[in-house]
Amino acid sequence: MVYIPSNNLFDRIRRRAAVELFAKPFQLPLKTALITFSFDDCPHSACETGKQILEKHKALGTYYISAGFMDQEDHQGSCFSKADIECLHASGHEIACHSYAHLDTAKISIDGLSKDLSKNQKEMQHILGKGFSPQNFAYPFGNMTPLVKRNLRQRYATCRSVRTGVNRGMIDLACLKAVEINEINAPETCMKFVDDVVENGGWLIFFTHDVRENPSRYGCTPEHFENVVVKARRSGAQILSVRDSLKFLGVNAS
Ligand SMILES: [Zn+2]
Repeated sequence: MVYIPSNNLFDRIRRRAAVELFAKPFQLPLKTALITFSFDDCPHSACETGKQILEKHKALGTYYISAGFMDQEDHQGSCFSKADIECLHASGHEIACHSYAHLDTAKISIDGLSKDLSKNQKEMQHILGKGFSPQNFAYPFGNMTPLVKRNLRQRYATCRSVRTGVNRGMIDLACLKAVEINEINAPETCMKFVDDVVENGGWLIFFTHDVRENPSRYGCTPEHFENVVVKARRSGAQILSVRDSLKFLGVNAS
């Protein structure tokens, strides 16, 4: 069964407080038109089909990895393998952090969270070498608390949420907004966000999961994904991973 974080009144208020508090502000230059494609968890299809589509259109993506999923099978199909991570990294895609156990960060102590994140890094270092350290993080389930956000904004250059929207003006690097590509969102919805970022500026971060025929409710078909990538490529906006976006923006990622 797919886990869904608690959504009672207390949790909703705490989540709202986390959005407002402990920001990591950055003023996005007015004329920035930046688009990122990212994948969460990550399914093998994202590492293979998603990667092929991005590369066909000369783009690199960000893969938020939960190492605990390696070689597993779930509702999103086969998860990533060691070879997938090696191949993504060697091809210039970004390997980022999504916690080891795909934690609901609202349900674990800060100490427990820190140990889990270190475990994820260690697993990635086994594959990519001792010097590897992920710069960026995505909150599993998009869930967070003020305390978690305060802690993670120091550990990572950025933390991505699942709050829908374009990052524009004074953005919060500890709670970046994103837009999901799935089969529930009509392709036109994604296209409108691309038009918006070109017309009004901003940093649009797409995320999805599996990229395959008959995807899970969190994924999309290859055709849907490619349509969005083509739209982004033709828009004239820069398409960069989160890591490369930070370099482009001159954000100090240390
Ligand atoms: Zn996830």
